[in-house]
Amino acid sequence: VQHIGVLTSGGDAPGMNACVRAVVRMAIYRKVKISGIMRGYAGLLAGEMKPMDLGSVGDIIHRGGTLLRTARCKEFYEPEGQERGARRLQEAGIDGLVVIGGDGSFRGAQALMRHGISVIGIPGTIDNDIPGTDYTIGFDTAVNTVLDAINKIRDTATSHDRTNVIEVMGRRAGHIALLSGLAGGAESILVPEVPFDVDVVCARLMRGHNRGKLHSIILVAEGVGSAVELGKQIEQKTGLETRVTILGHIQRGGSPTATDRIWASQMGSRAVDLLLAGKSGLMLGVRRGELVEVALDKAMTERHGLDQELYQLAGILSI
Ligand code: ADP
Repeated sequence: VQHIGVLTSGGDAPGMNACVRAVVRMAIYRKVKISGIMRGYAGLLAGEMKPMDLGSVGDIIHRGGTLLRTARCKEFYEPEGQERGARRLQEAGIDGLVVIGGDGSFRGAQALMRHGISVIGIPGTIDNDIPGTDYTIGFDTAVNTVLDAINKIRDTATSHDRTNVIEVMGRRAGHIALLSGLAGGAESILVPEVPFDVDVVCARLMRGHNRGKLHSIILVAEGVGSAVELGKQIEQKTGLETRVTILGHIQRGGSPTATDRIWASQMGSRAVDLLLAGKSGLMLGVRRGELVEVALDKAMTERHGLDQELYQLAGILSI
């Protein structure tokens, strides 16, 4: 590989900047040309790319979002768009691409591979819903953002003796809800991966209430359905005053945690080394605390299931 391009695509996540910085600086360290492509595949098709130098990624390691911006691009679903994207890269002399994003972005990357571009994927999404890896960049920051919110809601919940339903992100996965709920001591954690019965949730609430608990926190993953509806049902069934908080996009922002920055740095620099070693079609991931390389197609077919042991533990400890 003579010239590496890097782009961020799909939903943004804290730590993407740290990752771009690592790609750029490792490429320069290895003396290979490096260009940043703006706004994902949309920017690629529009030819929005520029050479990156050491200073271009200065002062970003601590910032959320992505300086390369990100976008969704309809044209890239079509073979014509993909071919045009590959041509844009070839015209710019870019023969290796690092794609930071989710599984949709990796599908786009695979299309480019079929046109002769070497590709390495890096999982970046707060939802942690990418197969083949236990962890995605931004997940740790999002969990900590939710935890901070739980702590604050807990304070006011205790003062008022209220039940609080908190809706968190995660698309169709419950990873954010599970980890933040366990860390935050939530009474119930409702996720799409585990069926639940509202009556059981209410019975649990009442048991806690009758034992003298001053508040209850119920964490709901967005994939489960409307937290507002659930809050109404709970209030009706238990008679306990219930408030609903939908955390929304604050979960996507913020300064990345040390964990996200460190993995992002490792993944970004490893991606450069893999391209330089002639590798392609791989995604970087974390398995049991170690950096691993996974085939890109595997990263799109399997499912990253919820950690059932952790889920059970959360249930036991919140009794
Ligand atoms: P994420 O990467 O977070 O999963 P999306 O699914 O929105 O986010 O994908 C981001 C972009 O990747 C899309 O807007 C599109 O340009 C490209 N993409 C997604 N799926 C495909 C696909 N099947 N083939 C080609 N490109 C795709």
